Amino acid sequence: MAFLALLRLAYKNCPCMHQTKGQFGFCECGFSSELIKFCDLLLGLSAPKKNINLSSIWFSVIRLLFFIFLLFIVSFESLYAAQRSVIQTNELVVIFDESLGAAAKEVTTIYPEIKSELETLLRWKLNLKPAVLLVKENQTFQRMTGNNFFVAFAVPRKKLIVIDYSKMHNHPFTLRITLKHELCHLLLHHHIGTDNLPKWLDEGIAQWVSDGMSELIMDKKRVLDEAVLTGNYLPLNALTYRFPRDRRSVSLAYEESKSLVMYMEKEFGENEIISLLNDLKTGDEIDSAIRKNFSISLDELEKTWHQHLTRTTTWFVYVAIHIYDILFFLTALTAIYGFVRLVIKKRAYKDDDGDDDEF
Ligand SMILES: [Zn+2]
Repeated sequence: MAFLALLRLAYKNCPCMHQTKGQFGFCECGFSSELIKFCDLLLGLSAPKKNINLSSIWFSVIRLLFFIFLLFIVSFESLYAAQRSVIQTNELVVIFDESLGAAAKEVTTIYPEIKSELETLLRWKLNLKPAVLLVKENQTFQRMTGNNFFVAFAVPRKKLIVIDYSKMHNHPFTLRITLKHELCHLLLHHHIGTDNLPKWLDEGIAQWVSDGMSELIMDKKRVLDEAVLTGNYLPLNALTYRFPRDRRSVSLAYEESKSLVMYMEKEFGENEIISLLNDLKTGDEIDSAIRKNFSISLDELEKTWHQHLTRTTTWFVYVAIHIYDILFFLTALTAIYGFVRLVIKKRAYKDDDGDDDEF
Protein backbone atom coordinates (compact mmCIF):
# COMPACT_ATOMS: atom_id res chain seq x y z
CA MET A 1 0.00 0.00 0.00
CA ALA A 2 2.74 2.39 1.04
CA PHE A 3 4.64 1.49 -2.07
CA LEU A 4 1.64 2.20 -4.30
CA ALA A 5 1.08 5.52 -2.56
CA LEU A 6 4.76 6.34 -3.04
CA LEU A 7 4.60 5.36 -6.69
CA ARG A 8 1.59 7.58 -7.20
CA LEU A 9 3.28 10.47 -5.39
CA ALA A 10 6.48 10.05 -7.40
CA TYR A 11 4.54 10.24 -10.65
CA LYS A 12 2.50 13.27 -9.63
CA ASN A 13 5.46 15.27 -8.33
CA CYS A 14 8.30 14.30 -10.59
CA PRO A 15 9.70 17.61 -11.89
CA CYS A 16 10.53 16.62 -15.40
CA MET A 17 10.58 13.09 -16.70
CA HIS A 18 6.93 12.34 -17.21
CA GLN A 19 4.01 13.75 -19.15
CA THR A 20 6.20 15.25 -21.84
CA LYS A 21 4.14 13.87 -24.68
CA GLY A 22 3.46 17.37 -25.98
CA GLN A 23 7.14 18.05 -26.44
CA PHE A 24 8.56 14.79 -27.71
CA GLY A 25 5.51 12.72 -28.49
CA PHE A 26 6.28 10.00 -25.96
CA CYS A 27 6.80 9.58 -22.26
CA GLU A 28 10.49 9.42 -21.59
CA CYS A 29 10.56 6.95 -18.72
CA GLY A 30 7.42 4.97 -19.41
CA PHE A 31 5.06 6.18 -16.66
CA SER A 32 1.53 6.71 -17.78
CA SER A 33 -1.69 8.07 -16.40
CA GLU A 34 -3.09 4.51 -16.77
CA LEU A 35 -0.67 3.34 -14.10
CA ILE A 36 -1.87 6.03 -11.74
CA LYS A 37 -5.49 5.10 -12.40
CA PHE A 38 -4.58 1.52 -11.56
CA CYS A 39 -2.81 2.61 -8.34
CA ASP A 40 -5.88 4.68 -7.45
CA LEU A 41 -8.03 1.60 -7.94
CA LEU A 42 -5.81 -0.56 -5.73
CA LEU A 43 -5.62 2.16 -3.10
CA GLY A 44 -9.38 2.55 -3.17
CA LEU A 45 -9.14 6.15 -4.36
CA SER A 46 -11.39 5.48 -7.32
CA ALA A 47 -14.35 3.20 -7.86
CA PRO A 48 -13.82 0.02 -9.89
CA LYS A 49 -15.55 -0.24 -13.26
CA LYS A 50 -18.85 -2.12 -13.29
CA ASN A 51 -17.84 -4.60 -15.98
CA ILE A 52 -14.44 -5.85 -15.08
CA ASN A 53 -12.50 -7.27 -17.99
CA LEU A 54 -10.14 -10.00 -16.75
CA SER A 55 -7.75 -9.70 -19.67
CA SER A 56 -7.40 -5.96 -19.06
CA ILE A 57 -6.61 -6.66 -15.38
CA TRP A 58 -3.89 -9.15 -16.34
CA PHE A 59 -2.52 -6.63 -18.79
CA SER A 60 -2.52 -3.97 -16.08
CA VAL A 61 -0.74 -6.29 -13.62
CA ILE A 62 1.96 -7.11 -16.18
CA ARG A 63 2.34 -3.43 -16.91
CA LEU A 64 2.49 -2.62 -13.21
CA LEU A 65 5.30 -5.15 -12.71
CA PHE A 66 7.10 -3.59 -15.64
CA PHE A 67 6.65 -0.11 -14.18
CA ILE A 68 7.87 -1.28 -10.77
CA PHE A 69 10.99 -2.55 -12.53
CA LEU A 70 11.33 0.86 -14.22
CA LEU A 71 10.80 2.62 -10.91
CA PHE A 72 13.70 0.72 -9.39
CA ILE A 73 15.91 1.83 -12.26
CA VAL A 74 14.76 5.46 -11.88
CA SER A 75 15.21 5.29 -8.10
CA PHE A 76 18.74 3.94 -8.39
CA GLU A 77 19.48 6.63 -10.91
CA SER A 78 18.15 9.31 -8.58
CA LEU A 79 20.29 7.98 -5.74
CA TYR A 80 23.26 7.81 -8.05
CA ALA A 81 22.70 11.35 -9.33
CA ALA A 82 24.81 14.08 -7.87
CA GLN A 83 23.36 16.17 -5.07
CA ARG A 84 21.18 18.92 -6.46
CA SER A 85 21.02 22.45 -5.10
CA VAL A 86 18.37 25.12 -5.51
CA ILE A 87 18.43 28.88 -5.94
CA GLN A 88 15.09 30.62 -5.69
CA THR A 89 14.38 34.22 -6.67
CA ASN A 90 11.07 36.07 -6.98
CA GLU A 91 10.96 35.17 -10.65
CA LEU A 92 12.28 31.63 -11.00
CA VAL A 93 13.72 28.53 -9.38
CA VAL A 94 17.01 27.08 -10.55
CA ILE A 95 17.78 23.45 -9.67
CA PHE A 96 21.34 22.40 -10.46
CA ASP A 97 23.98 19.77 -9.91
CA GLU A 98 26.23 20.97 -7.12
CA SER A 99 29.21 21.92 -9.25
CA LEU A 100 27.07 24.16 -11.50
CA GLY A 101 26.66 26.95 -8.94
CA ALA A 102 28.19 29.61 -11.19
CA ALA A 103 25.96 28.61 -14.11
CA ALA A 104 22.87 28.68 -11.87
CA LYS A 105 23.82 32.19 -10.74
CA GLU A 106 24.21 33.19 -14.37
CA VAL A 107 20.68 31.95 -15.10
CA THR A 108 19.24 34.15 -12.34
CA THR A 109 21.21 37.13 -13.73
CA ILE A 110 20.22 36.80 -17.39
CA TYR A 111 16.65 35.61 -16.81
CA PRO A 112 14.98 39.03 -16.21
CA GLU A 113 16.45 40.46 -19.41
CA ILE A 114 15.47 37.42 -21.51
CA LYS A 115 11.96 37.45 -20.09
CA SER A 116 11.60 41.15 -20.83
CA GLU A 117 12.81 40.70 -24.44
CA LEU A 118 10.26 37.94 -25.04
CA GLU A 119 7.43 39.88 -23.43
CA THR A 120 8.24 42.92 -25.59
CA LEU A 121 8.44 40.91 -28.81
CA LEU A 122 5.35 38.75 -28.30
CA ARG A 123 3.48 41.48 -26.34
CA TRP A 124 2.39 39.03 -23.65
CA LYS A 125 3.28 38.81 -19.98
CA LEU A 126 4.91 35.69 -18.60
CA ASN A 127 3.05 35.51 -15.33
CA LEU A 128 4.56 32.30 -14.09
CA LYS A 129 7.54 31.22 -12.06
CA PRO A 130 9.46 28.65 -14.10
CA ALA A 131 11.89 26.06 -12.80
CA VAL A 132 15.15 25.65 -14.68
CA LEU A 133 16.97 22.35 -14.18
CA LEU A 134 20.66 22.43 -15.15
CA VAL A 135 21.98 18.93 -15.79
CA LYS A 136 25.72 18.49 -15.63
CA GLU A 137 26.14 15.06 -17.22
CA ASN A 138 25.21 14.55 -20.83
CA GLN A 139 24.37 10.88 -20.12
CA THR A 140 21.84 11.85 -17.46
CA PHE A 141 20.22 14.28 -19.89
CA GLN A 142 20.15 11.70 -22.67
CA ARG A 143 18.32 9.26 -20.39
CA MET A 144 15.64 11.93 -19.97
CA THR A 145 15.20 12.55 -23.72
CA GLY A 146 15.86 9.02 -24.91
CA ASN A 147 18.24 10.17 -27.66
CA ASN A 148 21.23 12.43 -28.25
CA PHE A 149 19.59 14.96 -30.56
CA PHE A 150 18.74 17.69 -28.06
CA VAL A 151 20.47 20.09 -25.69
CA ALA A 152 17.36 21.23 -23.80
CA PHE A 153 13.60 20.78 -23.57
CA ALA A 154 10.63 22.52 -22.00
CA VAL A 155 7.66 20.94 -20.24
CA PRO A 156 5.04 23.71 -20.35
CA ARG A 157 2.49 22.00 -18.09
CA LYS A 158 5.12 21.78 -15.35
CA LYS A 159 6.60 25.23 -16.13
CA LEU A 160 9.90 23.46 -16.42
CA ILE A 161 12.99 23.93 -18.57
CA VAL A 162 15.71 21.26 -18.58
CA ILE A 163 19.13 22.15 -20.02
CA ASP A 164 22.08 19.87 -20.76
CA TYR A 165 24.77 22.17 -19.41
CA SER A 166 27.55 19.98 -20.83
CA LYS A 167 26.55 21.29 -24.28
CA MET A 168 26.33 24.96 -23.38
CA HIS A 169 29.84 25.79 -24.51
CA ASN A 170 29.61 23.89 -27.78
CA HIS A 171 29.06 26.24 -30.70
CA PRO A 172 26.42 27.44 -31.52
CA PHE A 173 24.68 26.81 -28.18
CA THR A 174 24.89 29.26 -25.30
CA LEU A 175 23.04 29.30 -22.02
CA ARG A 176 21.39 32.60 -22.95
CA ILE A 177 20.00 31.62 -26.33
CA THR A 178 18.93 28.16 -25.14
CA LEU A 179 17.12 29.63 -22.14
CA LYS A 180 15.40 32.18 -24.39
CA HIS A 181 14.23 29.49 -26.79
CA GLU A 182 12.82 27.28 -24.05
CA LEU A 183 11.24 30.20 -22.22
CA CYS A 184 9.48 31.14 -25.45
CA HIS A 185 7.85 27.67 -25.45
CA LEU A 186 6.60 28.31 -21.91
CA LEU A 187 5.28 31.75 -22.89
CA LEU A 188 3.45 30.40 -25.96
CA HIS A 189 1.86 27.53 -24.05
CA HIS A 190 0.97 29.83 -21.18
CA HIS A 191 -1.23 31.88 -23.51
CA ILE A 192 -2.33 29.40 -26.20
CA GLY A 193 -4.09 26.13 -25.52
CA THR A 194 -2.06 23.12 -26.74
CA ASP A 195 -4.85 22.11 -29.13
CA ASN A 196 -4.61 25.45 -30.91
CA LEU A 197 -0.83 25.60 -31.13
CA PRO A 198 0.56 23.37 -33.89
CA LYS A 199 3.99 21.98 -33.14
CA TRP A 200 5.48 23.51 -36.30
CA LEU A 201 4.32 26.99 -35.19
CA ASP A 202 5.51 26.44 -31.62
CA GLU A 203 9.00 25.51 -32.83
CA GLY A 204 9.00 28.08 -35.63
CA ILE A 205 8.20 30.98 -33.29
CA ALA A 206 10.70 29.79 -30.67
CA GLN A 207 13.44 29.69 -33.31
CA TRP A 208 12.31 33.02 -34.73
CA VAL A 209 12.75 34.77 -31.37
CA SER A 210 16.05 33.05 -30.56
CA ASP A 211 18.02 34.07 -33.65
CA GLY A 212 17.17 30.89 -35.52
CA MET A 213 18.46 28.63 -32.76
CA SER A 214 16.64 25.58 -31.49
CA GLU A 215 17.31 22.93 -28.89
CA LEU A 216 18.14 20.44 -31.63
CA ILE A 217 21.74 19.60 -32.49
CA MET A 218 21.32 20.31 -36.19
CA ASP A 219 22.79 18.34 -39.04
CA LYS A 220 25.63 20.16 -40.74
CA LYS A 221 23.89 19.44 -44.02
CA ARG A 222 20.90 21.67 -44.57
CA VAL A 223 18.27 19.03 -45.11
CA LEU A 224 15.68 21.61 -46.14
CA ASP A 225 17.68 22.45 -49.29
CA GLU A 226 17.67 18.78 -50.25
CA ALA A 227 13.93 18.60 -49.57
CA VAL A 228 13.28 21.66 -51.75
CA LEU A 229 15.39 20.33 -54.63
CA THR A 230 13.83 16.87 -54.48
CA GLY A 231 10.31 17.95 -53.46
CA ASN A 232 10.40 15.65 -50.39
CA TYR A 233 8.92 18.00 -47.79
CA LEU A 234 7.31 16.92 -44.58
CA PRO A 235 3.70 18.13 -44.96
CA LEU A 236 2.58 20.63 -42.31
CA ASN A 237 -0.37 18.49 -41.28
CA ALA A 238 2.13 15.78 -40.24
CA LEU A 239 3.83 18.29 -37.94
CA THR A 240 0.75 19.43 -36.03
CA TYR A 241 1.07 17.33 -32.87
CA ARG A 242 4.57 15.94 -32.87
CA PHE A 243 7.77 15.76 -34.86
CA PRO A 244 9.22 12.60 -36.35
CA ARG A 245 11.82 10.73 -34.30
CA ASP A 246 14.51 9.80 -36.80
CA ARG A 247 17.50 12.12 -37.02
CA ARG A 248 17.07 13.43 -40.54
CA SER A 249 13.32 13.94 -40.35
CA VAL A 250 13.43 15.77 -37.04
CA SER A 251 16.10 18.10 -38.48
CA LEU A 252 13.88 18.72 -41.49
CA ALA A 253 10.88 19.39 -39.23
CA TYR A 254 12.82 22.02 -37.30
CA GLU A 255 14.19 23.63 -40.48
CA GLU A 256 10.74 23.72 -42.08
CA SER A 257 9.21 25.29 -38.96
CA LYS A 258 11.80 28.03 -38.88
CA SER A 259 11.66 28.62 -42.62
CA LEU A 260 7.86 28.95 -42.64
CA VAL A 261 7.75 31.48 -39.79
CA MET A 262 10.53 33.49 -41.47
CA TYR A 263 8.48 33.39 -44.67
CA MET A 264 5.37 34.54 -42.79
CA GLU A 265 7.32 37.49 -41.39
CA LYS A 266 8.70 38.41 -44.83
CA GLU A 267 5.34 38.17 -46.62
CA PHE A 268 2.91 39.42 -43.97
CA GLY A 269 5.00 41.16 -41.31
CA GLU A 270 5.70 40.82 -37.61
CA ASN A 271 2.43 42.49 -36.57
CA GLU A 272 0.37 39.91 -38.45
CA ILE A 273 2.24 37.07 -36.77
CA ILE A 274 1.53 38.59 -33.36
CA SER A 275 -2.11 39.07 -34.34
CA LEU A 276 -2.25 35.42 -35.47
CA LEU A 277 -0.93 34.29 -32.08
CA ASN A 278 -3.53 36.44 -30.33
CA ASP A 279 -6.30 34.84 -32.38
CA LEU A 280 -5.02 31.40 -31.39
CA LYS A 281 -5.04 32.57 -27.79
CA THR A 282 -8.66 33.60 -28.01
CA GLY A 283 -9.64 30.18 -29.32
CA ASP A 284 -9.29 30.23 -33.11
CA GLU A 285 -7.93 27.11 -34.75
CA ILE A 286 -4.82 27.54 -36.88
CA ASP A 287 -6.58 27.48 -40.28
CA SER A 288 -9.11 30.11 -39.21
CA ALA A 289 -6.42 32.32 -37.61
CA ILE A 290 -4.34 32.16 -40.81
CA ARG A 291 -7.35 33.05 -42.94
CA LYS A 292 -8.13 36.02 -40.69
CA ASN A 293 -4.62 37.44 -40.72
CA PHE A 294 -3.11 36.38 -44.06
CA SER A 295 -6.35 36.15 -46.13
CA ILE A 296 -5.34 32.70 -47.40
CA SER A 297 -5.90 29.15 -46.17
CA LEU A 298 -3.24 27.06 -44.44
CA ASP A 299 -2.95 24.92 -47.60
CA GLU A 300 -2.40 28.00 -49.73
CA LEU A 301 0.18 29.31 -47.27
CA GLU A 302 2.04 25.99 -47.46
CA LYS A 303 1.88 26.03 -51.26
CA THR A 304 3.14 29.60 -51.67
CA TRP A 305 5.90 28.97 -49.13
CA HIS A 306 7.05 25.91 -51.15
CA GLN A 307 6.97 28.01 -54.34
CA HIS A 308 9.07 30.68 -52.60
CA LEU A 309 11.60 28.03 -51.51
CA THR A 310 11.77 26.60 -55.04
CA ARG A 311 12.48 30.06 -56.44
CA THR A 312 15.20 30.84 -53.90
CA THR A 313 16.91 27.44 -53.67
CA THR A 314 18.92 26.47 -56.72
CA TRP A 315 21.36 23.70 -57.45
CA PHE A 316 24.05 26.38 -57.38
CA VAL A 317 23.14 27.11 -53.72
CA TYR A 318 23.13 23.37 -53.01
CA VAL A 319 26.61 22.96 -54.55
CA ALA A 320 27.88 26.01 -52.61
CA ILE A 321 26.58 24.58 -49.32
CA HIS A 322 27.96 21.09 -49.97
CA ILE A 323 31.20 22.22 -51.59
CA TYR A 324 33.36 20.45 -49.00
CA ASP A 325 31.45 17.19 -49.40
CA ILE A 326 31.80 17.45 -53.17
CA LEU A 327 35.53 18.25 -52.98
CA PHE A 328 36.04 15.33 -50.60
CA PHE A 329 34.17 13.03 -52.97
CA LEU A 330 36.21 14.22 -55.99
CA THR A 331 39.47 13.80 -54.04
CA ALA A 332 38.47 10.27 -53.06
CA LEU A 333 37.56 9.53 -56.70
CA THR A 334 40.94 10.87 -57.89
CA ALA A 335 42.75 8.73 -55.30
CA ILE A 336 40.87 5.61 -56.45
CA TYR A 337 41.60 6.44 -60.10
CA GLY A 338 45.32 6.91 -59.26
CA PHE A 339 45.41 3.61 -57.37
CA VAL A 340 43.75 1.70 -60.23
CA ARG A 341 46.20 3.19 -62.74
CA LEU A 342 49.13 2.23 -60.52
CA VAL A 343 47.90 -1.37 -60.30
CA ILE A 344 47.41 -1.56 -64.08
CA LYS A 345 50.91 -0.12 -64.65
CA LYS A 346 52.46 -2.62 -62.23
CA ARG A 347 50.76 -5.51 -63.95
CA ALA A 348 51.88 -4.25 -67.36
CA TYR A 349 55.45 -3.92 -66.00
CA LYS A 350 55.36 -7.51 -64.66
CA ASP A 351 54.02 -8.77 -68.01
CA ASP A 352 56.86 -6.95 -69.81
CA ASP A 353 59.36 -8.52 -67.39
CA GLY A 354 57.87 -11.93 -68.07
CA ASP A 355 58.13 -11.38 -71.84
CA ASP A 356 61.79 -10.28 -71.46
CA ASP A 357 62.58 -13.45 -69.45
CA GLU A 358 61.37 -15.57 -72.33
CA PHE A 359 64.14 -14.20 -74.54
ZN1 LIG B 1 12.03 24.34 -29.27
